[in-house]
Amino acid sequence: MPRKLGQHFLVRQAILERIADAACEGATPRVIEIGPGRGALTRHLLSRTEELHAIELDDLLASYLDTEFRADSRFHLHRGDVLQIDLAQWGPAAITGNLPYYITSPIVERFLALDEGFPRAVFLVQKEVADRLRASPGNRDYGFLSVRTQLFCNVELILKAPPSAFAPPPKVDSAVVRLTRRTNVPENVKSIVQFASRCFAQKRKTVRNNLRGFYDSRVIDSLPEAGLRAEQISVQQLIELQAKLDGITKTGSAAR
Ligand code: SAM
Repeated sequence: MPRKLGQHFLVRQAILERIADAACEGATPRVIEIGPGRGALTRHLLSRTEELHAIELDDLLASYLDTEFRADSRFHLHRGDVLQIDLAQWGPAAITGNLPYYITSPIVERFLALDEGFPRAVFLVQKEVADRLRASPGNRDYGFLSVRTQLFCNVELILKAPPSAFAPPPKVDSAVVRLTRRTNVPENVKSIVQFASRCFAQKRKTVRNNLRGFYDSRVIDSLPEAGLRAEQISVQQLIELQAKLDGITKTGSAAR
């Protein structure tokens, strides 16, 4: 089997079971599976849900899945690119998949952009990406991806998967993470994401230096925490820093 489209098939049953358990915890009437391949995970999901929407780009694999699962009325196959399909049409649902690693980030982004109808995603990803998704401040993996993800979700490590769990084995270690959507996502989350991206623009620079050009220098200089680098600041501290900067800026312009 060619390694195109990130095709590394999971063969370790214990891992497949644990992914399906993590995705279908509690009552999960509907599941979306990204990249079902030859249906290794699909089988475990079908025994835990009432309706499964599986999205597969590879035509040969899609035809195989169609033959294999056609008789199961819970199974719905969608041929196409997950990045071109509107996932919101199947909410409420849990989302899962042994992801094609070449498009992990845009898939995570699409999940984050959905709403509370999609309370969790359980993804098998490259271990390095899992580390970045769940990193805390001060850790070398902590960066904009961690902040953006953790603004929307709690991130849990479910398990680590060695290359030998796949056929063919990938060159990297893998891990399963569960993203559980927060119920208290701030209303202005889009502007916080933009603020965070500015703070992390140059990792080695202080927040103060990264934000010059966006705020009055006197305002930034008045806040001691702006003297830290973004990688040292927690998600909550970033939210508070933006609120302070915007608050002072607004009060200042009102006073002028
Ligand atoms: N779930 C299977 C398993 O664990 O054995 C296969 C996982 S394999 C890592 C990734 C799967 O995603 C492949 O079946 C591949 O064809 C499919 N895929 C790759 N790019 C895709 C895309 N843009 N949209 C949907 N599926 C895609």
